[in-house]
Amino acid sequence: MYSEYDMSVISRIRRFIYNATEVIPGIFQVTHRGANVLIIAEDTITLIDTGLRDSASHILEFIKHIGRSPEEISLIILTHNHIDHMGGLAEIQEHSKAKVAVHKDDVGIREHPPAADGRYREPLAQIKSKLRSVFSVLPEDVDIILEGGEILDCLGGLDVIHTPGHTPGSISLYSQKHKMLFSGDLIRKRRNKLLLPPKMVCSDIDENLESIKKISHYDIEILCFGHGLPLHQDVTPRILDLINRDEV
Ligand SMILES: [Zn+2]
Ligand SMILES: [Zn+2]
Repeated sequence: MYSEYDMSVISRIRRFIYNATEVIPGIFQVTHRGANVLIIAEDTITLIDTGLRDSASHILEFIKHIGRSPEEISLIILTHNHIDHMGGLAEIQEHSKAKVAVHKDDVGIREHPPAADGRYREPLAQIKSKLRSVFSVLPEDVDIILEGGEILDCLGGLDVIHTPGHTPGSISLYSQKHKMLFSGDLIRKRRNKLLLPPKMVCSDIDENLESIKKISHYDIEILCFGHGLPLHQDVTPRILDLINRDEV
């Protein structure tokens, strides 16, 4: 029989393993509170997104779990400046000296819809000034300002594609070597059906659809999302289905 202590350790490990997937050898997806962080373990480690603020300990623990060290993180790419993608950045950076790459149009204080309401603007500004690196990526957090068209030193060359619409500076990342696209929140998946992100969390939903058309020209076999498990089958037909459905 297991003691109570053993059981809690086992359930913790189970939960931990359950929330991590190896997408292909060396590329791991860790999910915490619904937000994905992609961990690309090569000679050095690249992170795509950083999850929510309290996700950092899970990410760092996972990196140790695969026999690597947080100090090996050399590059952190943020698909966009939303709290569930950049919230863990400050804490991860306490353990690494990684360069941070973000699109130029997503650097700075993000205007949340409530901030447009006078009642919330002032308190939010105060919170942001105290905990600002938790809410927004600021110029001082960023080492590599992206515009789209860059090729980052990861997976033999990771193409940066500017895919605005969810936020003005949203990017997708394409690995030609693995025919793999990291799409952030450009597309969401419900079961195996691809959908647009909810309009209310997008800066411009029509622009988001145009960005999906842009990535539909890439040869994609594996599609990784900001939320949900990767899609390994029929990626292009499903993207085209989404475009045709939403264009009408
Ligand atoms: Zn988002
Ligand atoms: Zn998200």
